[in-house]
Amino acid sequence: MPRKIHRLFIFGWLCTFLRQTGASYEGVRILVVEDERSAARMIAKGLREHGHAVDVVGDGEAAVRLAADTTYDLILLDLLLPVRNGLDVCRDLRARGIAVPVMMLTARDAVGDRVTGLDAGADDYLTKPFHFDELLARIRALARRRALPLLPARVECGRLTLNTRTQEAFVDGEPIDLTAREYALLEYLCRNEGAVISRQEIAEHVWDNRYDPTTNVIDVYVQRLRRKIDREPESFIRTRRGAGYQLIGVHAVSR
Ligand code: CA
Repeated sequence: MPRKIHRLFIFGWLCTFLRQTGASYEGVRILVVEDERSAARMIAKGLREHGHAVDVVGDGEAAVRLAADTTYDLILLDLLLPVRNGLDVCRDLRARGIAVPVMMLTARDAVGDRVTGLDAGADDYLTKPFHFDELLARIRALARRRALPLLPARVECGRLTLNTRTQEAFVDGEPIDLTAREYALLEYLCRNEGAVISRQEIAEHVWDNRYDPTTNVIDVYVQRLRRKIDREPESFIRTRRGAGYQLIGVHAVSR
């Protein structure tokens, strides 16, 4: 397929994807290994819009290095890559005992390539060009098989309710206008309701490699969330000095 048309296809999938609200898995950390920059950018953008933390690399060597250093929930791995191809990457990860679920993305559709990919340790195989909905459906299926964190469609934390399919939050039934990142942060805190969550944990699950630990971006986001969800005189999110944050939803607590 000519490059331009290929890009248009990807853009089409992205638009459809953004209109759809079918993903019920929570924000997971995904490594996208794709050397075609526009495709990588669009896949990453789409996944981020959905609250996932996404890192992108363009060659196989960098992919192995990152996957060895970072705990990913899923790797989307292109087959044809510079430096080391996807099969080589997959074999290397498995040889190192890294059991992260791997989905191969490739322009090839020959049965032999699929078999080789699966034999190399991939969990699933998706032929490009693919529909973004199919990618999402396969991620969900993989999440179920590999016990990736899954959320019910509706999460209740006291007066706070989340619809994880539409990524909407409600306080006392009133919708709250949140950005994708604010929603992902809130969902992560709700999922760990009552537990004290460190900034490090938040960074790992809600941000990605673009997170800069020298900034106070997490605190800024927590403040924004509080402004949006708190109803005086009550606050959902407690600051635990030196430890992190704690969401108390059951009886939204006094400040
Ligand atoms: Ca490629």
